Amino acid sequence: MSDRRFVQGSGINAFNGNELIVKGALESKVGLMAGYPGSPVAEVFTILEENAEILRECGLWGEMTNDESQGAAALNGALDVGVNAVAVMKSVGLNVAADPINIINYADKLGLSGKRGGALVVCGDDPHASSTQVAGDSRQLMEHLKMAIIEPSTPQEVKDWIGEGLRLSQYSNLVVGYLITTYLAEGGGSVILSENQPSDITFKNPITLDISKVDIKRRVSIPPNTWDLEKELVRDRFPKVHEYVRDHKLDKILYDDGQKHRIGFIAAGISYSYLEQALWELGLDEQFPILKPAVTYPLEPNIVGELSKKVENIVVVEEKSPAIENQVKTILDDLVQEGKISGMPKVWGKFFPQGDGFPEESGLTPSNLIEKVGNLLLEIGDPAAKIDQKKIHSELDLLAEIKAYGLLVPPRSPGFCAGCPHRETLSAVHSLRDTPEHKDIFAHGDIGCYSMSFLPPFGEMHNLTAMALGGAAGAGMDPFVTNKQYALMGDSTFFWRGMTAISNSIKEGQDILYLILDNKNTAMTGHQPTPETGHNLMGDKTTPQDIESIVRAMGQGQIYVKKMPPSNREKYMKELDKVFEKPGVKVIIADKECGITF
Ligand code: SF4
Repeated sequence: MSDRRFVQGSGINAFNGNELIVKGALESKVGLMAGYPGSPVAEVFTILEENAEILRECGLWGEMTNDESQGAAALNGALDVGVNAVAVMKSVGLNVAADPINIINYADKLGLSGKRGGALVVCGDDPHASSTQVAGDSRQLMEHLKMAIIEPSTPQEVKDWIGEGLRLSQYSNLVVGYLITTYLAEGGGSVILSENQPSDITFKNPITLDISKVDIKRRVSIPPNTWDLEKELVRDRFPKVHEYVRDHKLDKILYDDGQKHRIGFIAAGISYSYLEQALWELGLDEQFPILKPAVTYPLEPNIVGELSKKVENIVVVEEKSPAIENQVKTILDDLVQEGKISGMPKVWGKFFPQGDGFPEESGLTPSNLIEKVGNLLLEIGDPAAKIDQKKIHSELDLLAEIKAYGLLVPPRSPGFCAGCPHRETLSAVHSLRDTPEHKDIFAHGDIGCYSMSFLPPFGEMHNLTAMALGGAAGAGMDPFVTNKQYALMGDSTFFWRGMTAISNSIKEGQDILYLILDNKNTAMTGHQPTPETGHNLMGDKTTPQDIESIVRAMGQGQIYVKKMPPSNREKYMKELDKVFEKPGVKVIIADKECGITF
C-alpha cells in the first residue's frame, strides 16, 4: 500500500497538495501528526493511513483524533516532550479547536526533554465553499488566537513551509497557523525533494520525563501565570516573528527594477499564483514590483515600508476579508506617524478607484483577476511598465465573450452513491410523511454524507446547526412545539461529539429520535476508521467501541434503543412509525456499511 514517493530523498516528483503536507512533515523532523479530516485537507489522513509503514520507518506517529480540538490538544502533549507536532483540520474544525489552541499558545513550549518543539496547525480553507457549509477564511480567527500565519503559494512551498512554519514556531514560541486553500491542497505539481528527517524523539524511542523540571508558572496558563505569559506573548513573541521573517528573508519584493512605479502589488498564498498567471495572460509578467509575504500575520512592517517607497498605488490581492489590506494600511499609517516614510501610497484591495475591487464573497480565480487587474491598469497606467493596452483589451474582450456564452454545462449537485445505505433511511422517513400524523416531523440537519439529505428527492433536512449538534438544536425547539423531531448522526460523528448531544437530550427529557447511520466509516472524508473500527490510523488493533452499548449505558435502560439494518423497508418503516410515537429520547442505529467499502 505504501507509496515510495514518500521516501524519495532527492530529485523531482509530482505530488498533490495534501501529499506534500505529509512529505513536508516527513522531511521536517515531525514526531506527531494529528487531527480530524475535512475538505480540502481530508486526504491527509488517508495518506497517513495508507503509508503507515513509511511513517513507522520514519518515526512519525499519525493519529486521527475523535475531533479537531483533540488534535490541537495533542500538540500540547508533544510540546511537553519537545517534539515537533502538526495538527490538521479544515476551517470549521479550527473553530472547534480554537479553545485548546488559544490556551496552548500562552504556554512556554520548551519540552521537558530540553528540546523545543514547534507547533503547526495546518488549516484547510475552502474560500469558494465548494464543499463546506460556510466559506473559509480562518485568518481572523488565527489572529484572535494569537497565532502567526504562514501561507504557501506554490507546491514547493506547500512542502517546504511545513518545516519553515515549525522553525518559526520554535523561534517565536507561538503556535503557527499554516493556511492552505482548496485549489492548492487539491491541485499539485512537481517539487524538489529532500531526505526524510526523523524527529530526535520518536514513538520508537520513548523517554521518561523528569517531572521535577516542570515549570508550572510557564506551562500552565491560569491567572496569575496568564498575566506574565500574555505580556511575553505580545511583547516578545510577536516581535520574534518579525525577526525570523527578516533574518530568513521569507518575505520578498519581486521584480524591483529600481524605478518608481505607479502600481505595485501585495499577494500571498494562492492569490499570489493567480496574480502571476493573470499578469502573464495580460502580457505584464515581471513588470511591477510584487511584495510576496510568507507570513501574512503579523505582517513584517519594514518590507511594507520598502514597497511604499517604490510605488504610488499598492494593490492588495487576497481572497475573502481584507486581512492583509488592513494590516498594510495600519503599518503605513504608523510609518508615516513615526516619520519613517514621508508619504503614503494609496492602498486598493476591496475597493478600487472606480468602485468594487476584489470581492469578499466567494474566492478569486485567475479570470476574475485578469478582469479586475486589467481594468485597473487601463485606468491608472504605469509609465515604468511596458503596458500593451491592445493585449489587455483583447484579454478583457475574450473574458466578456466567454461570459456571454452563458452556462453551457448543466449544474452538477452532489448525490448519494448508488447502493448508499442512507438512501434507505431517508426514503423510509420521507415516505412516512405521507401519513397525516407524520407529515410535520422536523428533521434536524448534521454533517456527514447524509448532509445531502437536504437535496431532492428527500428534502429531509430542515435546518443545519453544526456537526453533531442536530439533536442539541432540537433541545431548543422541544419546549415550544408538539412536532415530532429527529436528528441524523453518523457513526464517526457519534464519537466526534454526537454522544454528548444524546446525553444532553436524555438529561433534558427531550422528545427526539436519533437516527444513527452506522456505516462503519468516516465515509464523507475518504473512509477513514472510527473508534468502532477496531484499529487506528497506524494499523494498530484497538478496542472497538460499540455505539449500541454506549447509548444503552447512557440511557440506563430507560430510553428506547434499537439496532437494525435499514434494508428491509417494510420492517424498517414499521419500526420508525412505532418509534416516532414513543415519548422521550429514542435511538435507532441503522446498521449497514457504506456502499463504497462494502
Ligand atoms: S460514501 Fe458511503 S455513506 Fe457516503 S454517500 Fe457514498 S455510499 Fe453513502
